[in-house]
Amino acid sequence: QYDYSYDARCDVWSLVFNFFSDFEARPSVTHLLEHPFIKQAQGKDVALQQQLAALILEQQEAGCKTKTKHERINTRKTLIIERYNLVDAVCVFLSLLQETIISHLQKRYDELQVYTYVGDILIALNPFQNLSIYSPQFSKLYHGMKRADNPPHIFATADAAYRGMVTFCKDQCIIISGESGAGKTESAHLIVQHLTFLGKANNRTLREKILQVNPLVEAFGNACTAINDNSSRFGKYLEMKFTPTGAVIGAKISEYLLEKSRVIKQATGEKNFHIFYYIYAGLYHQDKLKTYSLPDRTPPRYIDSQHRTVMQDIVSSKLYKEQFDAIQEGFRNIGFTEEEVNSVYRILSAILNTGNIEFASITTQHQTDKSEVPNAEALETAASLLSIGPEELQEALTSQCVVTRGETIIRTNTVDKAADVRDAMSKALYGRLFSWIVNRINSLLQPDMNICGMNVGILDIFGFENFKKNSFEQLCINIANEQIQFYFNQHIFALEQMEYQSEGVDASLVEYEDNRPILDMFLQKPMGLLSLMDEESRFPQATDQTLVDKFEDNLRCKYFWIPKRVELCFGIQHYAGKVMYNVNGFLEKNRDTLPADIVVVLRTSENKLLQQLFSSPLTKTGRLRQLSMKNIEMKTIAETNRGITIQSPQKKNGNGNFSLRQTVVDTMEMMRHPEETTSMRRQTVASYFRYSLMDLLSKMVVGQPHFVRCIKPNDDRQALRFCKERVMVQLRYTGILETVNIRRQGYSHRITFEEFVNRYYYLAFRAHQMPETSRENAVAILQRAKLEGWVLGTTKVFLRYYHVEQLNLLLREVI
Ligand code: ADP
Ligand code: MG
Repeated sequence: QYDYSYDARCDVWSLVFNFFSDFEARPSVTHLLEHPFIKQAQGKDVALQQQLAALILEQQEAGCKTKTKHERINTRKTLIIERYNLVDAVCVFLSLLQETIISHLQKRYDELQVYTYVGDILIALNPFQNLSIYSPQFSKLYHGMKRADNPPHIFATADAAYRGMVTFCKDQCIIISGESGAGKTESAHLIVQHLTFLGKANNRTLREKILQVNPLVEAFGNACTAINDNSSRFGKYLEMKFTPTGAVIGAKISEYLLEKSRVIKQATGEKNFHIFYYIYAGLYHQDKLKTYSLPDRTPPRYIDSQHRTVMQDIVSSKLYKEQFDAIQEGFRNIGFTEEEVNSVYRILSAILNTGNIEFASITTQHQTDKSEVPNAEALETAASLLSIGPEELQEALTSQCVVTRGETIIRTNTVDKAADVRDAMSKALYGRLFSWIVNRINSLLQPDMNICGMNVGILDIFGFENFKKNSFEQLCINIANEQIQFYFNQHIFALEQMEYQSEGVDASLVEYEDNRPILDMFLQKPMGLLSLMDEESRFPQATDQTLVDKFEDNLRCKYFWIPKRVELCFGIQHYAGKVMYNVNGFLEKNRDTLPADIVVVLRTSENKLLQQLFSSPLTKTGRLRQLSMKNIEMKTIAETNRGITIQSPQKKNGNGNFSLRQTVVDTMEMMRHPEETTSMRRQTVASYFRYSLMDLLSKMVVGQPHFVRCIKPNDDRQALRFCKERVMVQLRYTGILETVNIRRQGYSHRITFEEFVNRYYYLAFRAHQMPETSRENAVAILQRAKLEGWVLGTTKVFLRYYHVEQLNLLLREVI
């Protein structure tokens, strides 16, 4: 028998939603939360809550005594309806419930039980201390076990994904979400750890290589921020590749939206990317600072523009040195050549030297706005590290070739402009270096093309951000989160409904907070926020003020507003809360211009790696095309004039009663003119960002998703401190309530009759009988297994999540 007592202990929701599911006229959770009653009742009306708690106990007792289920339900109903209006009662119940779940989580947290299941979703509270539950013994413990056999654990989620892949021959994806510092990246590491364990890489080197990928990439993509000492400044989707029998054969990373601006400037109290500190400490110990011409008297401006740090603190850091050694080991193990690694260090040092280049204005008879470089040393060092001529570099920094009406004019740069060009070059160098490292890792860990593999993808993407001052970067990050939330909704609600409908199974509509309108506001063409910003970015005369004006004139919806008294700001009502954005620098950040002069001079480099970085403008056309092809077969993801959409193939000619837009035509259109969307028009950050989102989504939709929600119990990074308010907020805005509802109500497993009979026929037939894979035989098995609550579609059996566990358990007993 299925062990409900376990479930009740770790999963309070099961109790509660069993209760709800007995009501026919069940109000939606969203609706309830909006109800004034619940707001008012929360935490205040203790007496009322206690009354209700007593009432619920009473009913449960009454329920036990009465005989039939029907009677039981009626008793409950009358009990509640008699004393309260039904909706109000449920409201109070919900507020109680919130209290219940929070105190449940808190109790577990106090006992260092950081994981809890809510339906299919794993909630992970950040312990802010090392726990001894991640050793190989624990990997063994969770290997191939039923969820109820062990306490909730991140390994169990990894295990479920792995098993899902092997059993159903289907790609899987694990989506980790949460605020910055909630523990996403750590969770991703733990998942990789368990997957490499399961993938029984008989090839030990491959296993080690895969385990080193994350630390290596994170050295370049993570940094110390005000919130998290190891904050990921890029989004990452890591795919682990397996053979059909489940042996690991390779890995692939995709990176999204690296926060390049951090290279040139960091907010007070924050740092540059880790790698810059690592190389200082590491190379200092090898006495190689000079070899790489790293400026070592004072910290370079990019590392510390405020002159707060002392060089000695950086170079003598034991931690940095250890990390450097690990990075070097990682590079070597994964297969980078010594020459490549040298080039990487040279480019990093070149970036730091570039940052130290200064400009001063000179006034000649003819020109007033000319600038020169007073500190030739930094310029020469940078040029030498980049293997280019110093004069050429200076020229590219201080002047600009402009072609107008067939004529080439050389314009000189003002001091400010020259500094901008310098910083743009540094950002471009770092950004392309990062992409190159990722691509190189991918080619080194690429599995043998002949093996037709499957994969488990792990998405670790920056969480929703809301700071005192929010800029372009926060906007992009929050749009990405908005998109992921949309995917979450789509998967859990919309696609589910679609499948029910096509199988003729009743899918009584479940309300949920659809964030589609907000996404539309961002992504629509040509009137969405991103498009408007792109349009404004094309006008040389545009300013941040004209951008705000443009937003104000064109964005008319309740999710967007311009505050009265604050200048150059706009507010957005995100699914996760209100955020105020400061438009300062938006246009420039979006244009992300790298003057052609710089590209030209960098291309003359004798350094092979640099040539490669700048040889072709990183076009995405090829990938874009590939992507579209792939998705036409599976589900179509398309960028349409209404943003990004997912569509299932069977809906192409459907009757359209579902609100996803017709997208195939648009995709075809895009495939026909891919260049237009990419290289012909200069690419802005916003348009590349839009493309990245699409790419990410396309990878996610083909797999079976698993969700991990990381929660930060306090803002002080303290172990064993549980701040109820903070947890409550995080639980609420992620839509956990709604999610659980549908997961509980819904049929999370849908198996064709054929597959079902093949898999479970032992339960009702003899081993040699080989029954026909028909609907009737599927029913025979279900009845024989004494399951309740399943339904039959036209081609599939619809099962609830616990049915599969029950079936597997029975199967184990039989075989
Ligand atoms: P995010 O990626 O969500 O921003 P991280 O994964 O970087 O957050 O976690 C922030 C910090 O929290 C980590 O550096 C670590 O100190 C701590 N942490 C997170 N998860 C765990 C865990 N499972 N065990 C121990 N410490 C953790
Ligand atoms: Mg992270």
